Amino acid sequence: MSNSLFQLVPNFGDTSETLRKAVEQMKDKYYHRGMRRKLVAQLRQKGIKNEHVLEAIGRVPRHFFLDNAFEELAYEDQALPIGEEQTISQPYTVAFQTELLDVQKGHRVLEIGTGSGYQASILAALGAEVYSIERQENLYWRTKELFRKMQVNNVRLYLGDGYEGLPKYAPFDKIIVTAGAITVPETLQEQLLIGGTMVVPVGRPTQQMYRVVRITETEFYSQVYGEFRFVPFEKGVKKRK
Ligand code: SAH
Repeated sequence: MSNSLFQLVPNFGDTSETLRKAVEQMKDKYYHRGMRRKLVAQLRQKGIKNEHVLEAIGRVPRHFFLDNAFEELAYEDQALPIGEEQTISQPYTVAFQTELLDVQKGHRVLEIGTGSGYQASILAALGAEVYSIERQENLYWRTKELFRKMQVNNVRLYLGDGYEGLPKYAPFDKIIVTAGAITVPETLQEQLLIGGTMVVPVGRPTQQMYRVVRITETEFYSQVYGEFRFVPFEKGVKKRK
């Protein structure tokens, strides 16, 4: 894996003092790895079967994506606040969506709702070429800076309204929406390759997980999975104050 996020003794090119300090705080210690192993065992018990997905969760340090105050909780199977009234999804939800998406190495994957960047990193760890859109400028810049420090180079971040997708880079093998939509977003399904899959939670106040496969230019096949609770999929870009 050329991606230094996963080299546990990172070699960060930038020598500036602030950056060095920030990076030093992102230590991945034995006990973090131990907690990740327990989390993986829990996810397995809860029904996650895809070994690649489990392995990615075992490898990506979730505590890097959270405020220090949540370090102890980072490997509990729960959603946690990331600011701007948003949350990092529960690990089970991340695993469930990623498993449904069936990501293969080299797939071009569009994620809607970058948030902390954790889900995008799991996709990157699976070898995908990730494009991720966030509508909140504060979160966009924070995650961009985090990825720069971690030298994550197979995730491209965009500030924009995810409802529009990324027509310039379409079609995608896979699309994952990590906020609760009201209906299956049509603009997004149009950006799928034929044979491509979109995983999107749909409904209010809770969501059913939809898996939509594009069968032909005009036909889509969808199946519905369990119930989840996401933050809402909202329109427009929210600028920094
Ligand atoms: N995948 C994220 C989950 C973050 S919660 C993670 O791993 O941390 C969902 C995110 O979707 C929030 O950051 C929210 O701001 C964002 N979001 C909601 N509506 C959006 C839209 N229309 N376009 C892009 N991002 C959106």
